[in-house]
Amino acid sequence: MLSVFSSSAVRYLVTQQFCKMPTTRSSASAGASGESHEAPVAPPKRRRKQIKIEYPSDDKPVVKVENGVPSGIKGSKAKGKQVGATVKAEPGTFEIKQEIKEEYEGEIDSKGDASKSADPVKSEYWQEEEKPSKWEPPHWREVLANIREMRKNTYAPVDDMGCDKNSNDDATPEVRRFHVLISLMLSSQTKDQVTHAAVERLIEHSGCTVDSLLLMDNDTLGKLIYPVGFWRRKVQYIKQTCEILKKDYNGDIPNTIKDLCKLPGVGPKMAHLAMNCGWGIVTGIGVDTHVHRISNWLPWVQKPTKEPEQTRLALEAWLPRELWSEVNHLLVGFGQSICRPVGPHCSECLNKELCKVGRATMRGEKKKKKSD
Ligand code: SF4
Repeated sequence: MLSVFSSSAVRYLVTQQFCKMPTTRSSASAGASGESHEAPVAPPKRRRKQIKIEYPSDDKPVVKVENGVPSGIKGSKAKGKQVGATVKAEPGTFEIKQEIKEEYEGEIDSKGDASKSADPVKSEYWQEEEKPSKWEPPHWREVLANIREMRKNTYAPVDDMGCDKNSNDDATPEVRRFHVLISLMLSSQTKDQVTHAAVERLIEHSGCTVDSLLLMDNDTLGKLIYPVGFWRRKVQYIKQTCEILKKDYNGDIPNTIKDLCKLPGVGPKMAHLAMNCGWGIVTGIGVDTHVHRISNWLPWVQKPTKEPEQTRLALEAWLPRELWSEVNHLLVGFGQSICRPVGPHCSECLNKELCKVGRATMRGEKKKKKSD
C-alpha cells in the first residue's frame, strides 16, 4: 500500500475502510475501496474513513499530530479532497518531526477533512513497519530533574572554575577561545582548582595568547602550569599546538571536531567542549570521568561502558540533543559534590530509589543496621 514519493513532497493517502470499522456507522459503508455493487442507497453525509499518512523514507519524517488529527489534513493548503484521492500537501504545511507514525480512523467530512474526534490507532500494518522503539533509561526525566534540584543549592568547583570561567573579560573572542582550549588541555588528570589557577597564572604572566606562549621558553611555561598532571608533556603539547594555530588558523582555534582532534593532546571530550564553550556550537556530549562514572552508576547507558568515548556514544543515542550541553556541566558538578567517586552521598541523594548504585548502597546500609 505504501508508495514511493519524492523527497520534496509528503503525501497523504486517504483510503476507504468501510468494512473494517467496528462501529455502527459501518453499516453505511459500501465495501472496500469504496466501490458499491449493491442497489444505490442514499450516501451518508459523513462517512468513516481511514487516513494513512505516508512519507518518503529518506526524509526523517513525519507529520505532527495534534488532538488526534494530522495537522496537514485539515490545513487549507491540502489539495485533493475527494474520497479515495491522493491528497498532496505542500512541503512545509506541517511540522516535520521524527518518530511519529500513526494511522487514523475517524470521521472524514465531505470535504475530506478529518474531524477532531478522530482517534489515532496503530494498525497491524504500522506495527510491522515501525522500527523498535529507541532505548532510554527508565525514569530518566525524574532523575535529571532531581539532579538539577540537588545542584541548585550545592557548590561544585566546575561552577566557577570550568574551562570557560577564566578572567579574560577584556580578551578578544579569539583569545577567549584560546583560553578555553588551554584550560581543557591542562585539565586532563587534574582538578578544576589546579587547572584554573594555572590558566590564571598564564593570563597574568603575559596574557596567555598564541604569540605570548610561543615566545615563552619551556621552563617558564612548565613553572607556570605546574602542578597540573603530566605538566612536562603538556608543555610540549601546548607549544606544538600554538605553532599549528599560528600557522593554520591565524591564531584562532579550529572550529570542527576533526581539526580540533588533530591538535596534540586534544581528544574528543576536549574537542566537543571546545566547540561548545569556545564556539557556542553543540556537537556532542563532553564526557569526563564524572559523566562516565555516573552514567554507568545510574545507569544511563544501556550496557556498561569502559571508556568515556563509549559512554558519549551511548548517551547521545537516547538523550535529546537539546540537553547535551547541559548534561556535561550538570553531571560534572553532581560528581564533584554529591555523587562523588569515593563515598557518594547516596543517603542524601534524591535519586537513591531510582539509581542502581543508590539502591544497592541503601540495601547494604539497612543490612548493616540490622546486624548492629
Ligand atoms: S544514589 Fe548515590 S550513586 Fe546514585 S546518583 Fe545518587 S549519589 Fe550517585
